[in-house]
Amino acid sequence: MKISEKGMSEQAVLAQLEAFRKDDLKWQEGRAFGYVFDPGKDVMAVGKRAYNAFLSENGLDFTVFRSLQRLERDLAAFGARHLRGDEHVVGNFSSGGTESIILAVKAARDYHREKRPDIKCPEMILPTTAHAAFHKAAHYLDINVVSVAVDPQSFKVRADDVRQAITANTIMMVGSAPSYAQGVIDPITELGDIALEKDLWLHTDACMGGFLLPYFKRLGEPVPDFDFSVPGVSSISMDLHKYAYSPKGASLVLYRHKNLRQHQIFACSSWIGYTIINNAVQSSKSGGPMAAAWAVLNYVGDTGYLEIARKNLAAVKKIAAGIEAIDGIRLLAQPQMSLVAFTSDTVNVFHIIDEMNARGWYIQPALSFDNSPAHIHLSINASNVGWEKDLLKDLEACVRTAATLPEGDLVKMVRGGLEQIDLENVSDEDIKGLLAMAGIGEGSLPDRMAGINGVLDALPAKAREKILTSFVNDLFVQ
Ligand SMILES: *Cc1c(COP(=O)(O)O)cnc(C)c1O
Repeated sequence: MKISEKGMSEQAVLAQLEAFRKDDLKWQEGRAFGYVFDPGKDVMAVGKRAYNAFLSENGLDFTVFRSLQRLERDLAAFGARHLRGDEHVVGNFSSGGTESIILAVKAARDYHREKRPDIKCPEMILPTTAHAAFHKAAHYLDINVVSVAVDPQSFKVRADDVRQAITANTIMMVGSAPSYAQGVIDPITELGDIALEKDLWLHTDACMGGFLLPYFKRLGEPVPDFDFSVPGVSSISMDLHKYAYSPKGASLVLYRHKNLRQHQIFACSSWIGYTIINNAVQSSKSGGPMAAAWAVLNYVGDTGYLEIARKNLAAVKKIAAGIEAIDGIRLLAQPQMSLVAFTSDTVNVFHIIDEMNARGWYIQPALSFDNSPAHIHLSINASNVGWEKDLLKDLEACVRTAATLPEGDLVKMVRGGLEQIDLENVSDEDIKGLLAMAGIGEGSLPDRMAGINGVLDALPAKAREKILTSFVNDLFVQ
């Protein structure tokens, strides 16, 4: 792009921006089971107004924007109470689950650098269901990941398996409440016992569940302890931009004690310029997300959230039961919150997704990995309430249609061709060939994704990662 010579009118720029959105996911109706957590027009309007009001304030320096310091302390104090922490629990606001997780991993790393200088190659034990953000944190912060398979039936990690994975270099263990993929809660209490016994850092990833699970518990659901009530838990991540329905860019990272959080903070006075003290990864940052989160939390209020949770829970139960009743598909696990995963032993799930997509639904594909088969994921939120019947009706029809579609020569070819390709060392040429076979030209995506998903699914994870990296590197060019 070359920017306009003399500037465009406000109307023209806004109209152009609007036009860019025409092929975006249509989440407004409530038929998207992911990406956007929509609490309804009125709540969203309040969030947007608060966001706008604080858009220009800069979180870079809370000594000059004292309102932002106040908001961050309020939000962290709310998080500490919500997650049953005592008066020692502290926390900070971040831009999202990924940033909260990176911060907690950094804090754990630097805490151990001080306490255990003998550890030169720190290790973090991750169940295979731990969110990719932990792998990103490990990648950024140079920590070795020790992967532990989850139980093939429940998809929860077994505490004993985690114990077995502990070495002299272990600094950190992770459990999810719930895990994104199957929506089940790891045995945090048992992991907490191990953490205390072995003097290790335990992080609960409650990005999805931290806000909602306490409400489900109040509604009578059997929610196991996952929060600061478990003595071994050192830190917790809890997103506000998911089930608290704050506008995006809102998460909290909380610590049992400020002695742990201390290692999260970055101060720099070793340059010629202003003094830097950052709580989080970003430096200059808008006050918008924080103000919006504060506004939405207080606008909806406790009883409001309980009501939203009640309806959400009912929708989850209807959808989960409905899926179980459809021939040809099955739940991977009984959802412990609002995330539903299902698969098929007879029908290609990627075809089901394409068929549903053609009918105006967005449901999410997940590739097979380790002992988890390729499956379909639904994150059910307030905006989906009321759509249960239609979803299930279309799903049943789409499973039937998908059953008639061929798996595709492509996937067969890829499976056959895999022997020829050195998967640990896929070349750019191999990648281009595979993408072309899947109907992907340079920088373009096909309407139906079953081909590409099938190809990716047939490849080992390292090869997938290489292909995706190369694809995106080609996508973001002039
Ligand atoms: C969404 C999510 C994350 C990552 O959060 P972002 O806000 O997308 O960065 C981490 N863990 C779990 C369990 C999640 O659901």
